Amino acid sequence: MAAAIPSPLAVSSRSCLLPRLFCHTRPHNWKRIILPFPTDSPPLRRAALGVFAHARRGFSFQEDDYASPSDLKFVPPLKIVEYPDPRLRARNKRINTFDENLKKLADEMFDVMYKTDGIGLSAPQVGMNIQLMVFNPAGERGEGEEIVLVNPVVQKATKKTLLCNEGCLSFPGIFADVERPASVKIDARDIMGARFRFNLSKLPARVFQHEFDHLQGILFVDRMTKDVLDSIRSELKALEKKYEDLTEKPSPEKIDDYKQSKQLVGFARA
Ligand SMILES: [Zn+2]
Repeated sequence: MAAAIPSPLAVSSRSCLLPRLFCHTRPHNWKRIILPFPTDSPPLRRAALGVFAHARRGFSFQEDDYASPSDLKFVPPLKIVEYPDPRLRARNKRINTFDENLKKLADEMFDVMYKTDGIGLSAPQVGMNIQLMVFNPAGERGEGEEIVLVNPVVQKATKKTLLCNEGCLSFPGIFADVERPASVKIDARDIMGARFRFNLSKLPARVFQHEFDHLQGILFVDRMTKDVLDSIRSELKALEKKYEDLTEKPSPEKIDDYKQSKQLVGFARA
């Protein structure tokens, strides 16, 4: 997710109910408000996160659902994959190897995220089709808290939703309003493979949900209303043209063929 900046959409009549700073600008002092991840208090942090046994009710996973060593191989520096690259729509495999290579990959993802002025980044956005995301709503190295989530699952999402202005590193320069639940309860593994469950709200919830969508092959344009989509249609078509010029292949998707699916309205597991 790219750092949000003020845009004309930010003052629409349905503008975000969160304080402006959470949706439209980058706050200057995130250390104070990036709960539940206080950086300076490990015991508090552990209590806030809570560690729970992970139960995947009703799901069974086969061997090929997991990333192989070749799926996890990468060559730095990583580069951002832009819409309409098909890797943004591909299935992302779960991870069950927690080693130095995975840590290095997460570090490289933070590097490219900070360099491109982002606050969140998912693995498919750097061409890696695996269930890994990194984010830091402060958007600056050494500020806020760096979060790495592996194989995340949304257990619950609030009925209450908020409309906020979002950007995406895979859609450079494009910002538009997207509606999402205000808070989510998630399960995930950390970079060491430890399972945990916690609640997210405010900006961390927004960034998490944006990146979680990437891990399902869902892009923020999929969650926009037709009017909002119309407002960025020409910019999306320019990205499609750029892809065609660079690859000499037809764009794998076109915004003009786009039909919003009601199925995408769901945000969490039942
Ligand atoms: Zn994105």
